[in-house]
Amino acid sequence: MRKKIVAGNWKMNKNLQEGVALAKELNEVLTADKPNCDVVICTPFIHLASVAQIINPDIIGLGAENCADKEKGAYTGEVSAEMVKSTGAQYVILGHSERREYYNETPEILKEKVLLALANGLKVIFCIGESLEERKANKQNEVVKAELEGSVFNLSAEDFSKIVIAYEPIWAIGTGLTATAEQAEEIHAYIRSLIEAKYGAEVADNTSILYGGSCKASNAPELFAKPDIDGGLIGGASLKAPDFKGIIDAWK
Ligand code: PEP
Repeated sequence: MRKKIVAGNWKMNKNLQEGVALAKELNEVLTADKPNCDVVICTPFIHLASVAQIINPDIIGLGAENCADKEKGAYTGEVSAEMVKSTGAQYVILGHSERREYYNETPEILKEKVLLALANGLKVIFCIGESLEERKANKQNEVVKAELEGSVFNLSAEDFSKIVIAYEPIWAIGTGLTATAEQAEEIHAYIRSLIEAKYGAEVADNTSILYGGSCKASNAPELFAKPDIDGGLIGGASLKAPDFKGIIDAWK
């Protein structure tokens, strides 16, 4: 049975002290009232080692928001998958639309990052999703198919089983616009059908596909009730423990 997951993406928010305080608060709240799903927080690199010391790994998983497309060496300013893993993190988000758009991460670069993350024992939360123009032109299926084929469908079935997919329509990220539960379910089911065609029914059934894009406590229950929506990747609403907990509780 595939996992239900609520993952936070802090993006470039919170200094070290603020991030540590948020992780502490979340750990306390979720220790007192255990979640019914896997919970992951993905933080800036500088928080990882400190946050790893604070959270109970049985309750909260830890991830980075990116890693380098090179193994090691003279790449000033980069952070490798091995370095991420050495902090105690178990996950890394790759392919976020902000990385694709603002940092020119191409399918080929992302393919390298995915391979390095997996080689270093990290699970990958791989983001896909269409822009507003692409949605208006009814091209969302083509877009997500190309994104999967471009960066993760090269993997063996065994490696693909370490991938969590996050469907994030770009027009819904940080905009307050959410895909309707029906819109999200339709494309999640399509994504699962692509995985089935490539890897077979068992792998498809076991792959968690998260929805991301202005997900909050008020709309999470309706989204998570859909059969092919296995949780959420949460930006803005992961920055306050009560907001994030409200989404986690949608699984109760
Ligand atoms: C995200 O960027 O992963 C995201 C889903 O952001 P938000 O929840 O703020 O729309």
